[in-house]
Amino acid sequence: MEINGRTGFYCLIGSPVGHSGSPAMYNYSFQRTGLDDVYLAFDVKLEEMDAAVNGLKTLGCKGFNVTMPCKTRAAQMADELSDAARLIGACNTVVIRDGRLIGHNTDGIGFVRNLKEQGVDVRGKTMTVMGAGGAATAIQVQSALDGVKKLHIFNREDEFAANTRSTAAKIRELLPDVEVELFPLEDSRALYDRIAESDILVNATKAGMKPLEDVSLIGDASVFRPELVVADAVYNPRETKMIREARKAGCRVAVGGIGMLLRQGEAAFHIFTGKTMPTDEVYEKFFKE
Ligand code: NAD
Repeated sequence: MEINGRTGFYCLIGSPVGHSGSPAMYNYSFQRTGLDDVYLAFDVKLEEMDAAVNGLKTLGCKGFNVTMPCKTRAAQMADELSDAARLIGACNTVVIRDGRLIGHNTDGIGFVRNLKEQGVDVRGKTMTVMGAGGAATAIQVQSALDGVKKLHIFNREDEFAANTRSTAAKIRELLPDVEVELFPLEDSRALYDRIAESDILVNATKAGMKPLEDVSLIGDASVFRPELVVADAVYNPRETKMIREARKAGCRVAVGGIGMLLRQGEAAFHIFTGKTMPTDEVYEKFFKE
C-alpha cells in the first residue's frame, strides 16, 4: 500500500518511544485489514504534550497512543473518558473525533483478555494484586469493572502507596459490590494469608523486570497451589522469576506480561479502526521470541 494524499495517520507519543514495537504492529495491521493509514512514533516530553496534541488535532490525526510520562496529562486533556480511563486517571489510547479527544485505557483490558485466553474469567474471583503504579491501577480497575468479587491490593510504602487509597476509594464509590482491602507489601504474613484465599495472584510492580530480574516478591513458593492463577505484568524478561517458580510449583496457569501487551494493542486497534487486529499474525511476527 502506498502513502497518498488521503492517507490517515495515528501515532504514539511519550518519551522515550524509539524502542516501541507499536509502529510495526499497527502498520502491519493496517495493511492486513486494508486500511489507508499509517502509524508513527513521536518523542514528546511532558512539557511539550499540550502543544503536540493541539498540533495532532490541527493536522487531522485520527488518534494516538500515549506512553510514559504523558498518560495522566492525556486523561486531563481529554474531552471524554471511558469508565476505565476515568477511574485510572490515565489514558493510553486517545481517539480524535471532530476535534474532540476521547480517552481510553486498554492496559487493564489487555490483562483481562490475556487471562481469558488462558481460560480464566475474573468475574466473581478473589484477586491479590501487588503494585500501585500505572499497570497495577489499570489491572485493578478493569478487573473491578469486569466483575471481580474481592481485591487485595499490596504495595510497599513508597511514592505509589497513596495511589492504592485513591483507587480503592474510586472503586468503592462506583462499584460498591467489589470488596477492596489495602495492605503494606512489607507484611508478608498478610500477603501469604490473602494469597491463600485468592483465585488469582498478580505482580504489577517492577520487581522481576530487568534489572530486577532476580527479584520475586513471593519468597515462599509454598503459596503456589496448582489451582492458583499467577500472572505477571512484567514482560522483560518474558518469564519472570515469580512465573518460573509458580510453574515449577505446578500452577496450571502462570502467565507473563507479553500477552497483556499484545491484547492492549489489539483493543486499541479496535477502538481506533472498528476492525479486528490480525492478532495471531502480529504475535508470530513481532512478539514471538
Ligand atoms: P510504575 O512506575 O507506574 O509503578 C511501579 C510499581 O512498582 C509501583 O507499585 C512500585 O511500588 C513498584 N516497585 C518498584 N520497584 C519495586 C521493588 N523493588 N519491590 C516492590 N515493588 C516495587 O510502573 P508501571 O508502568 O506500573 O510498570 C510496572 C511493570 O509492569 C513494568 O515491568 C512494566 O514494564 C509492566 N507493564 C506491562 C504492561 C503490559 O502490557 N504487559 C503494561 C504496563 C506496564
